[in-house]
Amino acid sequence: MGIRLTNINKSFGDFTALKDVSLDIKTGELIALLGPSGSGKTTLLRIIAGLEQADSGEVLMHGEQANAKGVRDRNVGFVFQHYALFRHMTIFENVAFGLRVREDANRPSENQIRRKVLSLLKLVHLEGLHSRYPNQLSGGQRQRVALARALAVEPQVLLLDEPFGALDSKVRKELRRWMRRLHDDMPITSVFVTHDQEEAMEVADRVVVMSNGRIEQVGAPDEVWNKPSNSFVYDFLGNYNEFMGWKDAKGVVHLDESDARPGPVAYVNEEPEEGFLRRYPLVGGLLRGVLNRKPAPIINVQQVVPAERKSSNGKPVKLYARPHEMLISRVHGAEEAIEVKLVHINPAGALVKLELERSSGEILQAELPADEWTGLMLKKGETAFVRPKVFRLFD
Ligand code: ADP
Ligand code: MG
Repeated sequence: MGIRLTNINKSFGDFTALKDVSLDIKTGELIALLGPSGSGKTTLLRIIAGLEQADSGEVLMHGEQANAKGVRDRNVGFVFQHYALFRHMTIFENVAFGLRVREDANRPSENQIRRKVLSLLKLVHLEGLHSRYPNQLSGGQRQRVALARALAVEPQVLLLDEPFGALDSKVRKELRRWMRRLHDDMPITSVFVTHDQEEAMEVADRVVVMSNGRIEQVGAPDEVWNKPSNSFVYDFLGNYNEFMGWKDAKGVVHLDESDARPGPVAYVNEEPEEGFLRRYPLVGGLLRGVLNRKPAPIINVQQVVPAERKSSNGKPVKLYARPHEMLISRVHGAEEAIEVKLVHINPAGALVKLELERSSGEILQAELPADEWTGLMLKKGETAFVRPKVFRLFD
């Protein structure tokens, strides 16, 4: 067993920083605590470290009750955002610090310390720099010294609080991959705090999404990305567009937009056992969406409905779609679509990013591969029609 937190509560005065937080961290896992500023990440990390006491709840580390144990007895290494190296000490002495302050009985010999420090500096790719001072290193190098220093005491648990937050994006990306490899090479359980979703997704085995002192979701990166458990998680993980919609009596969702021109659609029951209805536009009586798939027997068509506006008994819903989930066309097809004006094009990057203005003035975001963008032959200021290819609903 690694670390088990059960019903942790923590308040500062009358402000509740953590509410009933429970989390199981397995030995050897790399966990990211992800959330906006003020969501309680640092407080939780400090409680794991023993730097802060929970008001109630239990901290088990390696099966042992840790609440009463101090920082020194928890066998944790700590890396903070601001390097917090000792400025007046050489890199060597910074890394050696945790070993030198041990009580006599546990303190390694000078020779052992030397070997250990030099091998750690090699591990973090800073060999040869041991006699420099912190201000003679770059930010990325200093942060690697901080890691070496945390690892010197051979902790079972490594806690990192926004360790790369102060570095520029290229160094940041390099260091986080490197941290992942380092973690994999060592028998260590790591918990790192970040407010950067990309960083959490790229590095962690599991991501813990937090807001307002609560855990919103725990899951592998693809799990939280593909199955966000609520609109907070969905929102925090990336950009999105929001649409008004309505659910008809069959449970099929329609766009409900003042400027959406609905077209006739057919409902095709593709997975009868699940009763799942997919909506396809009808073009000249053909099921357009079905053409590229395995042919759907006509018997599966449940119903063809004419163009219609929201019926009075429709249930209003909100639809959410990511920028890369938008379908753009120069012409209005048979499907419900929203008329927009292309107001901004950012072609730099793997995807071309577009800003599309609706008649209401609201901006929709869309992203598409460069070849699709070229194929559209759309220019800034021109009119286009968009709709979500797929969308999410949160009840
Ligand atoms: P995060 O790391 O997610 O940004 P923190 O855990 O640092 O969040 O803080 C959560 C909330 O608790 C913040 O609103 C912060 O102001 C408050 N807080 C943290 N530590 C203290 C403290 N020692 N005294 C009072 N309030 C605190
Ligand atoms: Mg913090």
